[in-house]
Amino acid sequence: MPSNSLLYFITNIIKFEGFKAKNYHFITDDELLIELENKEKLAICPHCNKQTDKIHQSHRYRVRDIPISSYDVFLLVNRRQFRCKNCRKVFSEELSFVKKRRTYTKRLAEKVVKEVLETDVVNAGKRNRITPAEIDTILKELEADCLQEKPTDLKKLGIDEITQLKGGKSYAAVLVDLEKRKPIALLEKSAPPALRSPQRKDGARRVINSLLIVTGGSDRQ
Ligand SMILES: [Zn+2]
Repeated sequence: MPSNSLLYFITNIIKFEGFKAKNYHFITDDELLIELENKEKLAICPHCNKQTDKIHQSHRYRVRDIPISSYDVFLLVNRRQFRCKNCRKVFSEELSFVKKRRTYTKRLAEKVVKEVLETDVVNAGKRNRITPAEIDTILKELEADCLQEKPTDLKKLGIDEITQLKGGKSYAAVLVDLEKRKPIALLEKSAPPALRSPQRKDGARRVINSLLIVTGGSDRQ
């Protein structure tokens, strides 16, 4: 069993609020598995908003995280299912750092998106050991997130392209807030955005379309 001070050190490096490193193992010479423990023993029932500490069952699984130094990092995560003592319903806890049914953390997804924009899908995938199918999922989620969130304080908008290989055929254009280096919309090249049906009644798509027109010219850096 590793020393407490070493686990404390790892907990501070990985920085997931409410979680601590419980154990770690070297899987190979350059792969590290960190076992995480949720410090919070209570969960709030999403159905009736009452607290419960009754665990129905636990589901342990591995997710990839961003590397530490030259080590690839896997986290052994425990997503607990609680049974509400009040309404008796069963619910899974939300983990702040990984979405349900995903095998990578949110921050790894952000890193991959950044690298896809800087390089291309193939290289970003190889560098992060993420499959093209997983990158597709990450990009779809990015698109869904972009539609939920309207850009604020937008000053400079740029257009990046997502390509399989740099110099190759691009299959999506990404609108990027140049000051924050944050993607704000994803547009598939196969269908012009104006021809796609709006996904929300408040016209998020239409807002994005008009931004595209405004920034097609001199705002590009
Ligand atoms: Zn309940």
